[in-house]
Amino acid sequence: MIYIFCAPSGSGKSTMVKHLLTEHPDLFELSVSCTTRPPRGQEVHGREYYFISVEEFRKRIENNDFVEYQQVYEGLYYGTLKKEIDRIEAAGKQVLFDVDVKGGINLKKILGDKAVSVFICPPSVDELRKRLVGRGDTSAEMIEKRLAKAEEELSYKPCFDRVVVNDDLRHAFEQLDAIIDETK
Ligand code: ADP
Ligand code: 5GP
Repeated sequence: MIYIFCAPSGSGKSTMVKHLLTEHPDLFELSVSCTTRPPRGQEVHGREYYFISVEEFRKRIENNDFVEYQQVYEGLYYGTLKKEIDRIEAAGKQVLFDVDVKGGINLKKILGDKAVSVFICPPSVDELRKRLVGRGDTSAEMIEKRLAKAEEELSYKPCFDRVVVNDDLRHAFEQLDAIIDETK
């Protein structure tokens, strides 16, 4: 089974994905996307993302390298590489996607029953702001852009197979583990 994780920025998608990768390193692997945004904090090229220029991104669109891509924020492109899915499946592992809401809905349409789409829901937009500020790696301007987008993203929640409310972290991990147990 392939798992697609979507949520407004700051809801805890990366935290959920890291939990699964830590608990089941032999089972899952993250699909590393391309992005045109610069690295943040301790991010490493090829681990969190392939950090590429807009020109390179355009070239990859022309080459038909992406399963899906989105301009998630103004001027910032993110795309899922076809070859990531092949690489992970060839290694005998299950693919995890951490993508934006529209990308997730598109991936689910393409993958159908091969995938479970999971929406990670924040307890509130106020809490989202606190988490983004607390993470300490995103500018105030970018935080505002992300929050402005969050309301719209939350309205897509009913389009997903499952929802995890990330209030208390331990409880969220339990919900996630139950979903994996049920669907694997
Ligand atoms: P996303 O990948 O969705 O942008 P992150 O996983 O980076 O979100 O989480 C945003 C911030 O919130 C991080 O600093 C993370 O440690 C923190 N966080 C995640 N889940 C919780 C939670 N349940 N309670 C408090 N803080 C959390
Ligand atoms: P961030 O800049 O915080 O890493 O990511 C911003 C948003 O882009 C997040 O919602 C993240 O899940 C999403 N994203 C990351 N990679 C992809 C991708 O390949 N495709 C799409 N559509 N969204 C992505």
